[in-house]
Amino acid sequence: MSMALMSIIDKLEKPISVEEKTGCLNFSVIGGFDRYMVAWAKRAREICVDDYLKELFGEMVRLFEGYESSDLTERRRRILQARNLLSQVRKELNERMQTAELTQALPTKTQQNFETVEMPESSLPHKEFNPIQQTISQVQLPHEEPKSTQIAQSSQRTNQPTKSHSFASPRSPAPSPKSSMVSDRSSVKSLQPQALNPLSLSDPVRYLKGVGPQRAKLLKRLGVETIGDLLQFYPRRYEDRRNLKMLTEIVPGEKVVVQVQVVGNPFTEERKRLLITKVPVGDATGRAFLVWFNQPYMEKKFRIGQRLFVFGKATQIFGQLTFQTPEIEEITGDANLQVGRLVPVYPLTEGLSQNFVRTLVRETVWRTVDKLEEPLSNSIRQRYNLMLFNEALRQVHFPDDEGQLEAARRRIVFDEFLTMQLVLALRKKGVKEHKGIVFHVDSDSVERFIRSLPFQLTKDQHKVINEILADMQKPNPMNRLLHGEVGSGKTVVAATAMFVAVQNGYQVAFMAPTEILAEQHYRVLQELFRWHDVNIIQLVGSLTPANKRKARMKIREGMAQIVVGTHALIEEATEFHRLGLVVVDEQHRFGVMQRAKLIWKGQSPDVLIMTATPIPRTLALTIYGDLDVSVIRELPPGRQRAKTYWLHTSKRMLAYEFIKKELAKGHQAYVVCPLIEESEKLEDVQSVYRHAEWLQQSVFQNYKVGVLHGRMPGYEKDEIMDAFRQNKIHVLVTTTVVEVGVDVPNAKVMVVEDADRFGLAQLHQLRGRVERSEHQCFCVLIADPSTDEAKERLRAMTKTNDGFVIAEHDLRLRGPGEFLGTRQHGLPDLKLADIIKDIDILIQAKECAEWLVEIDSHLERPEHKYLRAKVEALEGGAELLRVS
Ligand code: ADP
Ligand code: MG
Repeated sequence: MSMALMSIIDKLEKPISVEEKTGCLNFSVIGGFDRYMVAWAKRAREICVDDYLKELFGEMVRLFEGYESSDLTERRRRILQARNLLSQVRKELNERMQTAELTQALPTKTQQNFETVEMPESSLPHKEFNPIQQTISQVQLPHEEPKSTQIAQSSQRTNQPTKSHSFASPRSPAPSPKSSMVSDRSSVKSLQPQALNPLSLSDPVRYLKGVGPQRAKLLKRLGVETIGDLLQFYPRRYEDRRNLKMLTEIVPGEKVVVQVQVVGNPFTEERKRLLITKVPVGDATGRAFLVWFNQPYMEKKFRIGQRLFVFGKATQIFGQLTFQTPEIEEITGDANLQVGRLVPVYPLTEGLSQNFVRTLVRETVWRTVDKLEEPLSNSIRQRYNLMLFNEALRQVHFPDDEGQLEAARRRIVFDEFLTMQLVLALRKKGVKEHKGIVFHVDSDSVERFIRSLPFQLTKDQHKVINEILADMQKPNPMNRLLHGEVGSGKTVVAATAMFVAVQNGYQVAFMAPTEILAEQHYRVLQELFRWHDVNIIQLVGSLTPANKRKARMKIREGMAQIVVGTHALIEEATEFHRLGLVVVDEQHRFGVMQRAKLIWKGQSPDVLIMTATPIPRTLALTIYGDLDVSVIRELPPGRQRAKTYWLHTSKRMLAYEFIKKELAKGHQAYVVCPLIEESEKLEDVQSVYRHAEWLQQSVFQNYKVGVLHGRMPGYEKDEIMDAFRQNKIHVLVTTTVVEVGVDVPNAKVMVVEDADRFGLAQLHQLRGRVERSEHQCFCVLIADPSTDEAKERLRAMTKTNDGFVIAEHDLRLRGPGEFLGTRQHGLPDLKLADIIKDIDILIQAKECAEWLVEIDSHLERPEHKYLRAKVEALEGGAELLRVS
């Protein structure tokens, strides 16, 4: 093959110098120098087996396809580039021959495909001027000579399957026919051989052409720092630009993509106070105007000669083809990236262009994917019908067609899910294989404990208590998630488990995300255990050092039987005497490592995780996939759901009037200000005070207004909460510290200020604070949301009180990534996968992961080494593989 190629290179090289000598007039070959060059370059590209060489010849084709319509300067430039390209090809070929990389010889038959073809006389342009007719007397054209003119060719292209001009497909990087109009400079540059050394995934993006410190910074903003990041920087969507039209082919009214050149100076006319900016453009077949209204600055964006892609609806105005406010994109790079194919559209940030990102990704794909190892064994790939990984990466960025894209997505999504499911399967197996505590459950005393409670348990509460106690009696540790709506009564369920643990002589750690909540649990537990002799203590960050020491001493010595606390529980200084049960409340706030740290303080204690964030089915399969799940669906009898309203800020006073009405009935109210607890800054806190003061003085003169926020010292919080519980404070102005678990049944109204700044789950949680009794209660959301998403959130709140519906909504609105907080769960990020849309793939990946862990629990088999590496790369991953 190399020989055949070499001979084509000779054929290409000779006319180039003649053409140059004769002034680039396109006369140097009978029948057209350009057609000759294009035909031979195409032929060369066809017989190449090497992608890189294919690309080089592709470049060559592109250089000469628009040669005739270019001016002299452009022609000279292209000649020069062609020369460089050829010497590059020669060099590459020589190298390959030497290293014998191209051992695969082309069957000699190929030679026979070449025929000596004289171009027909009729096609000879300016024959009489041809000064070198004698110099090159015999012109060979390869067999598959393009027969059509450029225009005919293009319309024919339109109907072709895209596969033939796929860019990313490794074996057919045929250029688009229209690329002739594209300036080739940058693409040729990116083809420098030194630029094509394979890259490693951990290389910084700076290694790529055109990425300096500035752009590296912009890319970082998009989360792209390394080559690996860039490979996984998946397109947001794709644009179908396969149906390119020439201007004269357009039927007015249709939406089209055209490729044009600016052919005249842009100008702006004024008509009836309307500024109309027009940009004259044209292609080989006709002319058109791009038009903008009242955007005179658009003029400056264009200059003659500039090449553009234009998308938009074409109309006929005064007999003139016009694109009104079209979408435009300057053609700066390689046409194949942007036209005649499904074109990827990437998320961008100010300062980075689509084109630039596409070029970067393309280079990255080229320089990496062939070196990537296939992470999945053949048997898995066959079993789940999965595309090769490197092909999937190629296709997901530069798809050949919809089918390939679909298959590529499926493959990548499968891999993302598989890693996640492996982690979960390993965790689950790890837990199951541990020897845990076998608690003895004495049904009589449990019965007595339950009877001592101030209310009758609901059916669901009974059910989950049975599930939990059954787990506790088993030899392997419990790892159970208890989930139920806000106010569904999870605390007593947990308390029953605690009762059993304490009866068996073990300690209990009860971890809550905030001090207020820990404080409340402490209070509630003391109440619930009133008739039982159980030592309950608190361990929170705000204790004085002396008190903390004392508390820790009690924990270490085993005097404290139930310890309620915050993060202070997992600090190193906290040691348990005999930890047997870990209860974690509102677990979505804790990371998996935090959970693990607490668990490690005992010897395989039982673990109960409670969450009030209802979990859609998909989530149960994902982040909680390693847990057994218990659900409380019903609320205690006689609970009223809050009626929820959304008011614009201009109607704010209505909300306060409403509060007043409720206060007059002896009820209380919350006014919630949007501060996230962890980030409560001093000035924000001050604004809460100011708001409270204003409410006190201008609205609720006859009532007492109090303030509660996260930065208050513990004792002050206690005082305020006590006063509120005792109805000494009527209106509590608060930050989100009330979000979780605070329980004051007499509070019947909640007004949420700037409600658009809260997430959906958070709003639902907040609302739960007033749904505490059989009285009608109310939630008023005050907001002027600016985004559709925020509006959607508020609407969802007014429409439903069903936590499951809310959770599904939330998941849909926020997308899985943020919702899952996968990192914090020690799980891999999902970049492409969508846990709602891709649920079917998720289920398959789960099945696959469980099977893998079953047959190879440490992933030690050689065919699993890449999967192993992926798990190991995660936080706690190596640990996981060891334990399981
Ligand atoms: P959450 O599930 O949100 O943690 P809690 O455990 O705080 O809910 O319970 C909410 C309120 O309901 C508490 O005041 C609790 O005493 C009360 N409660 C729990 N179970 C019942 C029940 N079966 N009947 C009546 N009230 C109950
Ligand atoms: Mg609770």
